[in-house]
Amino acid sequence: MRKIIIAIDGYSACGKSTTARAVAQELNYRYIDSGAMYRAVTLYFLDHHVALTNPKEVDRALQQIKVSFVVNSKGSSETFLNGINVEKEIRKMRISENVSQVSTIRAVRVAMVEQQRRMGKDRGVVMDGRDIGTVVFPEAELKVFVTAEILVRAFRRQKELLERDDLVDIDSIIENLQQRDSIDSNRAESPLRKAEDATGIDTTHITIDEQVDEVIRLALTKMIRPPK
Ligand code: C5P
Repeated sequence: MRKIIIAIDGYSACGKSTTARAVAQELNYRYIDSGAMYRAVTLYFLDHHVALTNPKEVDRALQQIKVSFVVNSKGSSETFLNGINVEKEIRKMRISENVSQVSTIRAVRVAMVEQQRRMGKDRGVVMDGRDIGTVVFPEAELKVFVTAEILVRAFRRQKELLERDDLVDIDSIIENLQQRDSIDSNRAESPLRKAEDATGIDTTHITIDEQVDEVIRLALTKMIRPPK
């Protein structure tokens, strides 16, 4: 079977990462969480007080940033910023509250997209994000676009945060998700939108297992088809 690129895009907290991670494990593919890369950049910018409106400062900071992923002993991928494990830190609300603004900056996107393309050059990857099927890998063999109702997304995100001992009230989560949806969808650079050839999956009423099964089913049809 040929190795393909699987692009999973969609709004925040629709189950993209969980699905992408499980699909990658099942197919023995590499999982790349592109959102984690933008979160790591945001962490660096906040900690180093980088002025987002100053292109020189942004460029200088970007040259200092190396984001990588390391698979831990449990088999899951963790995000490293300049060699330091930042997996927990980048999931906190202070990052969620700033990441979409950072992600509107063209220089940030250019730097991240370049790294993402390098990571996918050998194919056999599942990458999730906002612009994977439209900008990063427009030639991806399988593109999926996930959506879900806002309340379901908010409760899923709250549960995820609680598992990390981070108790956040549901109204703040809803507000953050809506704010990010709006910035991500309306930005000038690579706005979040469904690629024309993407398959839509509404995850409101289905379980993670069902989402994973559906993506694997779609992937297998692409993997057995010989390249044109
Ligand atoms: O996927 P996650 O919710 O962790 O992504 C965090 C933020 O990073 C998104 O809200 C979006 O602003 C940005 N992002 C992006 N392009 C991607 C992935 C994430 O702009 N490919």
